[in-house]
Amino acid sequence: MSFADLGLLPELLRAVADKGYDAPTPIQQQAIPAILAGRDVLAGAQTGTGKTAGFVLPILQRLHRSASSRTPRALVLTPTRELAAQVADSARDYGRHLALRTQVVFGGVGINPQIDGLRRGCDILVATPGRLLDLAGQRAVDLRAVEVLVLDEADRMLDMGFIHDIRRVLKLLPEVRQNLMFSATYSDDIRALAARLLREPLAIEVAPRNATADRVEQCAYRVPKDHKRHLLAHLVRSQGWTQALVFTRTKHGANRLAQQLERAGIATAAIHGNKSQAARTRALADFKQGRITALVATEVAARGLDIKELPVVVNFELPNVPEDYVHRIGRTARAGMDGRAVSLVAPDEAPLLRDIERLLRRAIPVAALPQFEIPVEPERTAVASRHDGARTPPGGHPQGRHPGAQQRRGGGRHRDGRSGQRARSR
Ligand code: AMP
Repeated sequence: MSFADLGLLPELLRAVADKGYDAPTPIQQQAIPAILAGRDVLAGAQTGTGKTAGFVLPILQRLHRSASSRTPRALVLTPTRELAAQVADSARDYGRHLALRTQVVFGGVGINPQIDGLRRGCDILVATPGRLLDLAGQRAVDLRAVEVLVLDEADRMLDMGFIHDIRRVLKLLPEVRQNLMFSATYSDDIRALAARLLREPLAIEVAPRNATADRVEQCAYRVPKDHKRHLLAHLVRSQGWTQALVFTRTKHGANRLAQQLERAGIATAAIHGNKSQAARTRALADFKQGRITALVATEVAARGLDIKELPVVVNFELPNVPEDYVHRIGRTARAGMDGRAVSLVAPDEAPLLRDIERLLRRAIPVAALPQFEIPVEPERTAVASRHDGARTPPGGHPQGRHPGAQQRRGGGRHRDGRSGQRARSR
């Protein structure tokens, strides 16, 4: 099937050709004709499936057919600023040969430029819910002309507690409209929202949860928590990784790991909700352009990141929710490419690994620990032995427990006051 078979306008076919796409992805094949026909859609699809073009192309076509009033006629709600920015970029890209305007609004940046932008008028508005409500409260945006509503990554919006904001936004929209909902997972809450929102939706399920996972080469290293960062630094260097997206559970953990990797000589940045928008945009640009090797991200910040040809995803900590593992590793192995997902699993994470394997219905191979160095750092040594339960031998090193762990003269001193020395385990 080609894009021309989907009934798209020549201007959109040109835009798609400009992007170098050969053929529509499965979600595009199903969603585009349904959306063009005016149907509501409930699509189970995650980032990487081509879902954005799946809704943006037919929306552009629909809006092009009627005269522009420059008040938003399509509203796309997204959970994160990054996803909002990416969807807006896609709308501008795919709509480059049409005279439609896209505006994006999200929190964490000044509101006035967004008010000015809205005043200039737009056809497609991409927004995170909180900022949209702020703007509506200030009467800076009029949503009464919205014909199409998209909830992108609806599951994540609910996870992030946006349900009340979404309900408030819905009240600002006309009753009669087309509704499109995209969600990578289906919880009861998602089903309830879909039941309320959608009229006789076409249900599309393109990426059965594990499809992406099946194309990704996965492995796990069993390693004590406090040795993870050293193993990671070793893997980056020894395996010549040029671009690795590394997931941590907390913002604080992301910052700390980024600093530690930097100290180990690996160009790194962290991206999470506490970072300013400017810092997040810069980190993402640096990562995409190869100026940094590792991008450490929390689950939420990484959602929807569109990074092409991402070769390696690292789970520095396993997620608590097994579905998040599938999301995370879905960032690699896009569009038929092979990717790698490496998980560092501490002893207390073993149950999480089991839950993931149950969801995937297969075991994740455990890789043998390579030889890697553990530089001696004064305070960290004490912490390491406390956390991972290693009994520190009289010499002061928690050595010998981990096949690969070597300690390197790091200039530091151990708790017992002796300076570090090179020690080879086994
Ligand atoms: P999405 O799932 O919308 O985040 O898209 C993931 C990536 O796939 C983006 O980088 C798109 O540019 C790309 N993409 C979308 N549609 C196609 C297509 N038909 N062929 C190749 N790449 C595509």
